[in-house]
Amino acid sequence: DAELEEEGDDVLQPRPPVVTVMGHVDHGKTRLLDAIRKADVGGGEAGGITQHIGAYQVHTEHEGVERALTFIDTPGHEAFTAMRARGAQVTDIAILVVAADDGIMPQTIEALNHAQSANVPIVVAVNKIDKEGANPEKVRQQLTEFGLVSEEWGGDVMFVDVSAKNNVGINDLLDAVLLTADAGLDLRANPDKDARGVAIEAKLDKGRGSVATVLIQSGTLRVGDAIVAGTAYGRVRAMSDENGDPVVEAVPSRPVQVQGLSSVPRAGDNFIVTSEDRTARQIAEKREAAERNAMLAKARKRISLEEFTKALEDGKVESLNLIIKGDVSGAVEALEESLMKIEVDDSVQLRILHRGVGAITESDVDLATIDNAIVIGFNVRPDVKARERAAREGIDIRFYNVIYNALDDIENSLTGMLKPEYEEVQSGVAEIREVFRSSKFGNIAGVIVRSGTITRNAKARVIREGVVVADGLAIESLRRFKDDVTEVKTDFEAGIGLGKFNDIQVGDEIETTEMVEKPRG
Ligand code: GDP
Repeated sequence: DAELEEEGDDVLQPRPPVVTVMGHVDHGKTRLLDAIRKADVGGGEAGGITQHIGAYQVHTEHEGVERALTFIDTPGHEAFTAMRARGAQVTDIAILVVAADDGIMPQTIEALNHAQSANVPIVVAVNKIDKEGANPEKVRQQLTEFGLVSEEWGGDVMFVDVSAKNNVGINDLLDAVLLTADAGLDLRANPDKDARGVAIEAKLDKGRGSVATVLIQSGTLRVGDAIVAGTAYGRVRAMSDENGDPVVEAVPSRPVQVQGLSSVPRAGDNFIVTSEDRTARQIAEKREAAERNAMLAKARKRISLEEFTKALEDGKVESLNLIIKGDVSGAVEALEESLMKIEVDDSVQLRILHRGVGAITESDVDLATIDNAIVIGFNVRPDVKARERAAREGIDIRFYNVIYNALDDIENSLTGMLKPEYEEVQSGVAEIREVFRSSKFGNIAGVIVRSGTITRNAKARVIREGVVVADGLAIESLRRFKDDVTEVKTDFEAGIGLGKFNDIQVGDEIETTEMVEKPRG
């Protein structure tokens, strides 16, 4: 593979680190990116019109030398993981933003899990230290539990207290990023060859056609080069930087906006320069075909818990990757703790890539796709997008409502034993569109059946925004118009009474299940 080619030390030159800002919503990622942009000591005209192009470069004075850093300007780990899902690893260092008044929150942990799973070193920005109630020490304390130990406390992670609002600590943060890069990463690339890189963001512009922000990873990109980015191809007609100024050539770690592509590449698509237009086009077409095939192959290759057990039985060494989502943190922790206590053969590895509270999201499925993980949903369900993606990617999502059952399944798998013979499967899902009061039956859910069949004798549970709010319910009445019926199929409306359980709301889902014999092998 040309991308893995070995290059001699003599041709490699230092390149700026590429940084992604991650963290919980509202902890100040966007504002921090703005503050960093303003801290630029480079040539950028003060007051010049800056535009959002998905990535930008800033310069800072570091140990007496002017150094550049590249920031990916789409904050959040979702974009980061979506790019990784395309095989693109653009980030060298992650800044984990934690608001000092709030402390760590679910997405803080999610972000750090995503960064760690990609082996990207983390610098922690403890933000909002201007606020009353800010407790930066507490943030340090909290993060030690997740393996991020601050340097001041003998660990190897740099924590910097900042206020994005008041522009406090921004230069220290940039220093910390550079120190982390210099200490642990060998960031060099050969600028003297045809460019390669990754599309960060792209759009269709009325006047300019396809406009793609690309990050150069090696080589130099010039106006006039023939390129192919994902399945888009063309000649670089014009390039511009984050200030809208024209760029003639772009070197490694430099983000630029490129015009001239035939279509809009996706974030995370790799691009290369080719010697001729024709070659670019041929590659693009081949890629399109390959992508289709790869998608089909991938969908077949995904591991399920059954296949894992089978591989173990066959003596093939395997590691089992898990993502655990649950409705309450206590349950997630209890499950994780019990799983870690399972005694397994030395050759078998159990890795928990991510754990969190709340519905299973697209981002969870992305992570499962990249690292071929199985997703455990404890009293939670995937949201619509996650469900679609999981189906497309063939991800094994397993639902449990009793910790013991989850533990039992995984333990049996890890020790190479066959599963129990019966399992619970979903038989129908109905969406509540209205709630009626009935003096006889309590609240009645006016539903439309979204999938499967709702049967009168099934067990039911109520799911609200992906989280199970009631379980083990019986369907005490099932009606179409005024008639009692035994079943209602997909796309039909019905009235459902759940007996004593009255806490139903418009938008909730009623899921019904039945026990079926489990297929073996
Ligand atoms: P994001 O969701 O992580 O991108 O967060 P934003 O950057 O949008 O910030 C969320 C809110 O926190 C906004 O109202 C910001 O003005 C505010 N904020 C961000 N940084 C600071 C800070 O350092 N101090 C204070 N007091 N507020 C901040």
